[in-house]
Amino acid sequence: MSRTLFEKIVAREIPAQIIHEDDLALAFHDIHPQAPVHVLVIPKKPIPRIAEACESDQALLGHLMWTAARVAEKLELTAGGYRLVINNGANGGETVPHLHCHLLGGRPMAWPPG
Ligand code: AMP
Repeated sequence: MSRTLFEKIVAREIPAQIIHEDDLALAFHDIHPQAPVHVLVIPKKPIPRIAEACESDQALLGHLMWTAARVAEKLELTAGGYRLVINNGANGGETVPHLHCHLLGGRPMAWPPG
């Protein structure tokens, strides 16, 4: 099976502005930011989307949320607030089939989302 764009970023085959890395996760700035701060937090394991995460991925999914909050702190978003988004499938707006959590901040977010 072909490797995802984000696996290539993990392997440093495609450049990205990486802001955090640990054994399980990578965080990097989105190439088309939708807010003053727009970071993607991904598992290194290529889970295609949240719907396809396994029971055994639960700790990893928690780690992604925890990491997103730490990255938000590092970017000084905590006081002002921020949004975490996971798009799943066509109606969710998913375009890259490698699970990722969007961290958006630096401006007020509208609700409902588009
Ligand atoms: P989604 O639509 O939820 O699947 O989000 C995919 C995100 O990946 C989009 O916000 C894209 O702008 C972003 N993206 C695509 N290619 C790259 C890249 N090479 N580096 C960083 N972000 C990217």
